[in-house]
Amino acid sequence: MATAAEPDPSTDPGWQPARILVTRAAMGFAHGRRIAETAAARGIEVVELSGDRLILNLPEDPRRAYVAAKRTLAVVVAPPSKRRLQPIAPSADWRMDLAEGCPAHCSYCYLAGSLKGPPITRAYANLEEIFDALPGYLGAGTITSRSRDREHEGTTFEASCYTDPLALEPITGSLSAAIRYFSAWEAPVQLRFTSKFADVAPLLSIAHGGRTRMRASVNPGAFARFEGGTAPVAARLAALRRMALAGYPVGLTIAPIIAAAGWQAAYGGLIEDAAAALAEISALDLSIELITHRFTPGSKAVLESWYPGSALDMSEVNRTTKRTKFGSEKQVYDAATMRALRDFFEARIAAELPAARILYWT
Ligand code: SF4
Repeated sequence: MATAAEPDPSTDPGWQPARILVTRAAMGFAHGRRIAETAAARGIEVVELSGDRLILNLPEDPRRAYVAAKRTLAVVVAPPSKRRLQPIAPSADWRMDLAEGCPAHCSYCYLAGSLKGPPITRAYANLEEIFDALPGYLGAGTITSRSRDREHEGTTFEASCYTDPLALEPITGSLSAAIRYFSAWEAPVQLRFTSKFADVAPLLSIAHGGRTRMRASVNPGAFARFEGGTAPVAARLAALRRMALAGYPVGLTIAPIIAAAGWQAAYGGLIEDAAAALAEISALDLSIELITHRFTPGSKAVLESWYPGSALDMSEVNRTTKRTKFGSEKQVYDAATMRALRDFFEARIAAELPAARILYWT
């Protein structure tokens, strides 16, 4: 029986887009047709386009256009350029995309600075072509493939860089397909995904072979106002427990760490809640990733237009400018704030979750 904090899969429909646009090319793939059928069966309007250009017809008013875009799922074909994988330090060797875009409304979302145009979600229909490209990257990465500490993870592929794949799963089924693909792949490989959603029911019975690591992306409940449209944190932790009990390696992505007033008590409580949620699981394989809040001038401008009046601090207080190797700038916490945060997290995790491996701090 589902607990109060846990969504009941039999009654929780998950994300329900207002409409689905399917390009002509996407209808040429069985997976694209399946997504259209699933959506239609759920009563969602399915628009089969006569060509491959997405005609969005969004309202002129920016507010309404944002809402309409966030409620639109496009089913498209990933072109060859998208099927050439990019490195994705420090999480994994390679980034693999099952989709781009996310229906949630997080006021710090990093996608705001990464994806251009209206914030619709695009799910890829040509999964087999995406999977067919993966063996070419075996052993060729620079993170787990070359790390003494993480080499046992094999070649790693991160599916959450440009989307939250679990949010889309009830309609697309793409994540389940990827888990099955990795399970059948006879090589030292691992699929990774992180999520702010909680409906893991479709994943629990998959023969995953231990080749997929799910991380729950979490922040204290006190910061829930920054994470509109996501599952409650308690539900995410409960979902992670269910995945661990189903034998999946699991993890916590504590992100973005926000040094707002009261952060010590808030994050201390979060770590305690995580420890309680993951208690008494035999052979628990738990990793932790720690990512501090950062933003670029571009992402800040987009986020301020999407979420005017958000209480999220994107001022220059406690910040310093960091230049990336590509020459762009981002605002990160200054050295003193970073030190205080890092010392706190390392100490509290060692005390509350001693079996966890911290993969990185950034
Ligand atoms: Fe962005 Fe993740 Fe929030 Fe989706 S769940 S809006 S990808 S931060």
